[in-house]
Amino acid sequence: MPTCDLLFLNGQLIDGTGAPRRAGALAVDGGRIAAIGDCAGWEAGRVIDAAGRVLAPGFIDVHTHDDSALLKTPAMPAKTSQGVTTVIAGNCGISIAPLVPRYPLPQPLALLGEVPDYRFATVAAYRSALEAAPPSVNVGLLVGHSTLRAGAMQDTSRAASAGEIEAMSAALAQALLDGGLGLSTGLSYPASRAAPTAEVVALARVTASHPGAIYTTHMRSERDQVIEAVRETLQIGREAAIPVVISHHKCIGRRNFGKTTVTLELIDRALATQDVALDVYPYTASSTVLLPEFVGDAERIIVTSSQPHPEQARRDLHEIAAEWGVSLEDAAARLGPATAIYFQMDEADLRRVLGHPRTMIGSDGIPGPYPHPRLWGSFPRVLGHYARELGLLTLEDAVRRMTSLPASVFGLPGRGMLREGYAADLVLFDPDGVIDRADYTQPCEPSVGIEQVYVNGCEVWGRAGATGAAAGRFLAR
Ligand SMILES: [Zn+2]
Repeated sequence: MPTCDLLFLNGQLIDGTGAPRRAGALAVDGGRIAAIGDCAGWEAGRVIDAAGRVLAPGFIDVHTHDDSALLKTPAMPAKTSQGVTTVIAGNCGISIAPLVPRYPLPQPLALLGEVPDYRFATVAAYRSALEAAPPSVNVGLLVGHSTLRAGAMQDTSRAASAGEIEAMSAALAQALLDGGLGLSTGLSYPASRAAPTAEVVALARVTASHPGAIYTTHMRSERDQVIEAVRETLQIGREAAIPVVISHHKCIGRRNFGKTTVTLELIDRALATQDVALDVYPYTASSTVLLPEFVGDAERIIVTSSQPHPEQARRDLHEIAAEWGVSLEDAAARLGPATAIYFQMDEADLRRVLGHPRTMIGSDGIPGPYPHPRLWGSFPRVLGHYARELGLLTLEDAVRRMTSLPASVFGLPGRGMLREGYAADLVLFDPDGVIDRADYTQPCEPSVGIEQVYVNGCEVWGRAGATGAAAGRFLAR
């Protein structure tokens, strides 16, 4: 009689490919999926009655800033509570490695922590730290362009010299050999906005010489120049012959609402000749560092943290500026280094991006005491609100965007589908009840309906909440 560690019976299996759900059993043994089907006659260490529930591959959060959080809060309840079993860190040009700063940190590197948090001279050193104290989720890491710049340049407000590009290329190549999944950029941020396209192409070419590595980008503009920014991104992909991912695609500011019709058409046309994917979080407010140049387009801004003025967290920037008798820009400058939530996007654009077949889900959550609700709510919100309530996606397609699509885009073999031999990263959820609960006033509320979550066969989220199991692995390219 075959034996296994875990046996799920009577569930609806959504396999991650987008195929319709089907009834079946699934056996897990030694951290892998051992069998799928009726599993009659299997003897199990633990049997789970999954009647009325969906069993799916664990979700892959393709857009995170969890680099430091993985070491500080390894149980990662913000993620496991959503069914997330793998996070991709190092997005938007900022990765915690490779960097031991010799110079003050340029913005937005403070999003990941302060100078002492940047203590990994190599991706291998960061990987070792994770392997010494494994978090509950698997981790893939992108190598951040701004991080490379901060290591190679004292003054990041200019283009890199040939020598600096060479230094960055060497650090990048080593980081990719150490298991980095690709290069990320954040070309609208102070640390990298002076980088010309040619600098990015040079680094993207280094990346492309490592099989399977990709290029992801928080583009140069998500505002008035968003169309040009998409063109630049596609050009970088073509010139470097590398797959590209457009991060958290959006159009900021009322006068830019609706431009996703143009950007998505550009992407569709490009797809005939190059590899492109996108990610999105299911909210119309964004969240990032608070910078004077970012405040003009938002209808409302909530300050979420401020190093010099922690007492102003959770307050509206407009109120603070009025109280201080200064402009919004001056208030933002005084509060910095700070983070904020900006209400500045259009629901129709969000739905259009979410509906694009190449769009994955990325929370873009920024861990902290008062985060944007996307940190805790993104995945259940897509499943419960956008798929079930609005019918924008089928549940199967929503799951596909969270599982097999990101596994193929980021190069995570053996994950993202229910297949015999694949890693047992699994989520068991209630398809009729799953929904986010985090909002802008209670941003750390766990969702409901995500009942059990397994990483490499170990339960990391269950009835009692996060188990803290050290089940996650570093997923090297
Ligand atoms: Zn970003």
